[in-house]
Parts: sequence; structure tokens; C-alpha cells
Amino acid sequence: MCSVGDDYQENELANHMERLDIKEVKTCNKCREKIPNVLLRRKDGYCKSCFLNGTEHKFKAFLGKHRFIKKDEYVLVNYTIGHPITSLLSFLRSGINASTPKQLKFNPIVLYIERNFHLNYEQRLRLLEQIQQHVREFNFPIYFTSFVQYACHSNIDFKTDYREITLNTNDCEEINKLYDSNISPTAQMEFYKQFEHRLLLESAKRLGCQHVFTCDLAFDVASQILTNVSLGRGSHLQMDIGVCDARDPNVTLIKPLRVFDIKELALYNYFNRLEPLVIKEQQFDPYLSVQNLLTNFVQNLQVNFPSTITTVVKTGDKLSMDKEIWQNKRCELCLLPIETQNGKFTSAEATEFSHWISTHPPDPKVPAIEIYNETIGATGKNARKYCFACSRISDFLIKQ
Ligand SMILES: [Zn+2]
Ligand SMILES: [Zn+2]
Repeated sequence: MCSVGDDYQENELANHMERLDIKEVKTCNKCREKIPNVLLRRKDGYCKSCFLNGTEHKFKAFLGKHRFIKKDEYVLVNYTIGHPITSLLSFLRSGINASTPKQLKFNPIVLYIERNFHLNYEQRLRLLEQIQQHVREFNFPIYFTSFVQYACHSNIDFKTDYREITLNTNDCEEINKLYDSNISPTAQMEFYKQFEHRLLLESAKRLGCQHVFTCDLAFDVASQILTNVSLGRGSHLQMDIGVCDARDPNVTLIKPLRVFDIKELALYNYFNRLEPLVIKEQQFDPYLSVQNLLTNFVQNLQVNFPSTITTVVKTGDKLSMDKEIWQNKRCELCLLPIETQNGKFTSAEATEFSHWISTHPPDPKVPAIEIYNETIGATGKNARKYCFACSRISDFLIKQ
């Protein structure tokens, strides 16, 4: 019998399993009276009522601290299937119904962007029906819109009844016509993300909303930070991962759940008997794209070193954007300001320069100064229309 192997397995198990040792935490951390029902961060035990009050308070405290939303404004809530949206709708409903001074005084409108091409027609329709039913349980208005119609035909149509939304069996082929078949999965995922982002902003404007709520958790923010740096979006990091994305002067994108982790929200839903919708996910290959790779990396961090997620998020929060950059021209895809040449090369421009030089061998007959000017002109050409990271996607876009 190999004892080394056994030890290894036991240690591995100890790393992966969070021991829910309620005996060690004898009373609730908050009321100091009741027996704890929940153990958070491996050490903080809470009774059911303190946990539920604390979770709702955390949400309201986040909104209260940042004071994004004024009285009677409209907020578009981006519906994404799972536990987070279920908790978010419940937080909003109980906050609006509250009769305390901390009552939420804005008007949420839910939007569902349909892009389930991987399901068949019946499954897609059934899912839309379930979403409509789910949102109606919280008594909020819901609109449906089609990602394909927007991406392929620049058409944004809102439907209040799920049966009216256009679902074509060839939606997948339609969307594939937009880009070159050689597109990498990384660029394809970025393409979806940027288009969805634009569709959200545009929908908010058309539906008269001044803000958008998304369902990103601390985990999503940590994955996004590492993905952005890897994809050359480091200079725009603050807009993608920050509390508030203000790239559009009229609509702000807010992540009100970025202070939560999935365990808190799943338990909140469980205690409140709230059933989230489930969807057949596409197979997750961790090595398919940069985004998947980093999501998988952060997933492993969450299991083995949960506090690292908070460290990554807090480090990201300390990074800020250069204020002067906002005067620059905006990228046509992500709408963020493009870094320009100012005597020195930015890292994006240096990469662009080096790529151009290595793919265009110099002609010995042409004077060096001409080669230099040609190179600078060629590398600056793409950067004028798109930021560095978007220029990587634009190379594959057929309709520009
Ligand atoms: Zn308690
Ligand atoms: Zn861009």
C-alpha cells in the first residue's frame, strides 16, 4: 500500500473541501444568540434570519454608498440565467416594497437578450416562456430582444411577449456570416461580448433607462481583470471591471452584485425558496480560448485559495484610467478612447509595430526614413478606428 499516495489524496481533499464545522462556531456572529445555519469565508457563522437580513443590507449599502441612482429613474436589469439574477430581482422587489427610509425609489425594467443558438427552436421558446414567468413572479416589466437581429441587421426590436420574438433555425449560420471562418474562439467570444455591451447601452437609451444593472459577481470581475490584461485591454480595465462603467455619457453600467459570491446568493435563494432557471450550457473546454482558460484558473483559485479572488478584485479597483485619455477618439467597437502616439510607443503600438515589421521585409532599395514612415503610417491606420484589442477582432469581421 502506498502511504505517500494516500496522504496526497487526503491533503488534496482537505484543500478542495470546505469543512462546514458548525460545532466550532457555536453562536451566530451577528446576534450572538442563535445557532448558526450558514458558514461563510470558512469562519463566519450566521443564523438564517441574520444571514438573510445581512445579504439584503449588503445590496442596499452598496447602492447607498455609491449613490448612482436618483429618485424615479429607470434601471434596465440584464437578465442572465442563474442564481445571481434570481437574488437580484428579489433584492429589488423587497427593497422597493420596504416601508423604511432605505426604500429603493427607482423603477427596474428587465431585458432578456435572446442568443441561445445552441438550443433547438422548442427549447428556445420554452426558455423564453420560463423567463417571462420568472420575472412576472417578481412583478417587474420584461422586454425581449434578439441578439442576431442586432448583430446581423442592426435592428433592435423589443417584445413584451416572448411569443413575438423572431427565432430562426438558421440563426447560428446567420451570425457566422458576420466574421471570417478563421476567427479564433477568443476573438469570437470578444465579438459577442462587445456586441452585447453595445446592445445593452442602446436598449437602455431606447427604453428610457439611465442605468443598467448586470449580474457580475466577484468571481466574474476577477476573471475579467485577468482576461482584459491578457487581451490587451489593460488600459481600459477600470471601465470593464469597475463598480460603474461610464463610457456612454447617457447610460451607466453598474455591477451591484460584485460584492457577492455565488455561495451567498445560492443560500439566499434557498432560504427564500426562490428557484432559479437552469439552461443546458455549452460544453466548457478550459483550453478553447483565453477567456475560458482564465475563468478556469479563477475557478481553481476560488476552490483552493478563496481569499485570492478578493485580492485580485481589490488590486483591479486600485487601477485607474488616465483622465486625459477621454479626450481621444473613441474605438468604433468598444466605444472606449483609443490610445494615441505621443512620441513614445504604447505597448499596444509597439506590438503592432513589431508585427508589421516582421511580416513586411524591408526593401533594400527604399531609404530607411521612407520605410520608417510607411511602418508608422501602417501601424497607426488600424489604431485610428479601433483600440488595440478590438483591432484584433476587426481583422475577422466581414461587415464593418
Ligand atoms: Zn443571528
Ligand atoms: Zn475597442
